[in-house]
Amino acid sequence: MVTKIWLSSPHMGGNEQNFVQQAFDGNWIAPLGPNVTGFEKDIESYLDANVYAAALSSGTAALHLGLILLGVQKGDEVICQSFTFAASANPIIYLGAAPVFVDSEPETWNICPNALEDAVKSRIAKGKKPKAIIAVHLYGMPYKVNEINSIAQKYNIPVLEDSAEALGSKYYDKPCGTLGDISVLSFNGNKIITTSGGGALITRDAETKNKAVFLATQARDDAPYYQHSTIGYNYRMSNVCAGIGRGQMLVLDDHVAGRRNMNAFYASFFNTINGVEVHKEKNDSIFSNHWLTTILIDAEVTGGKTAEGLRLAFNEEDIESRPLWKPLHLQPVFKDYPYYGSDIAQQLFDIGLCLPSGSNLGEYERQRIYKAMSKFFN
Ligand SMILES: *Cc1c(COP(=O)(O)O)cnc(C)c1O
Repeated sequence: MVTKIWLSSPHMGGNEQNFVQQAFDGNWIAPLGPNVTGFEKDIESYLDANVYAAALSSGTAALHLGLILLGVQKGDEVICQSFTFAASANPIIYLGAAPVFVDSEPETWNICPNALEDAVKSRIAKGKKPKAIIAVHLYGMPYKVNEINSIAQKYNIPVLEDSAEALGSKYYDKPCGTLGDISVLSFNGNKIITTSGGGALITRDAETKNKAVFLATQARDDAPYYQHSTIGYNYRMSNVCAGIGRGQMLVLDDHVAGRRNMNAFYASFFNTINGVEVHKEKNDSIFSNHWLTTILIDAEVTGGKTAEGLRLAFNEEDIESRPLWKPLHLQPVFKDYPYYGSDIAQQLFDIGLCLPSGSNLGEYERQRIYKAMSKFFN
């Protein structure tokens, strides 16, 4: 029987169960313990000695706490890249704040500096300065960090860096996950490494991390009984899950190499196909983990062959592929919020496709994918 080829499936390295076993041996079956501390240390040393990591139950929880730590409150406005997964923006709504969506630029597909500055100026003119900017390294491709940071600094607005898809990516040799005022990682099952479900908040100082952990563990005051002066959350990562994370950190670099290998595989195939463009770094200063390899198909050049056609052809062969993220300003649930920009994100959505990109896809899977693509483009 032929097994399905997934877009991005968990890839265990072999040591995960040892760490999970240690959790059982020590009876640390709790949202704290040696694996949580160890996993945080591993993340910190992987990223940069000068950042602090708080392991949490999900990337979405990390975004939620990140916004709270940046001071976002009910009635505030928060700028958010439109071309992303809904989880980037949902926590804005949890807080009773309102998203202001901004279009992408065509080079990295991430938040467009010009549209961002238009949005900031326009909101300020309306009497409401945005409280934060959520920028996303979509599909692992770093956004234009220098340009975005200089606008953020000019107007004195903090950046919440959504690096959920970009662990292992770099911008001018600096790791993604260290480039915002506060940053977010995800270890969901489909990400480059997984804890089966989890995330992390990355801060620039210990104090902010401690605040995040305080809020993530029900905001207990320092008293022998349970006393609370703030509303808390139950957002800490389990010590069992953190054990999986410690094992995954040992193979993170291999996963980055594997995903980049898949990208090179697609690039070499599509090299000979007119009208198909593989999304790549546009200069040497940026390094994508290529979490997912994505392509754009120009049906006018391919003679009517579309991204949707390729998706259906893959489906026939039990190979999963998927349209790009539908821009948030086009989502029914967000349709009433302001949007700045043109139709770049929408155009990408219309003609793009995400291809199977897992670091666990070997020669056999690549051959099946190759055959399906050759047949479709004959
Ligand atoms: C996966 C993802 C998230 C959410 O992370 P979870 O761990 O699934 O909650 C947020 N933003 C982006 C861009 C993501 O891809």
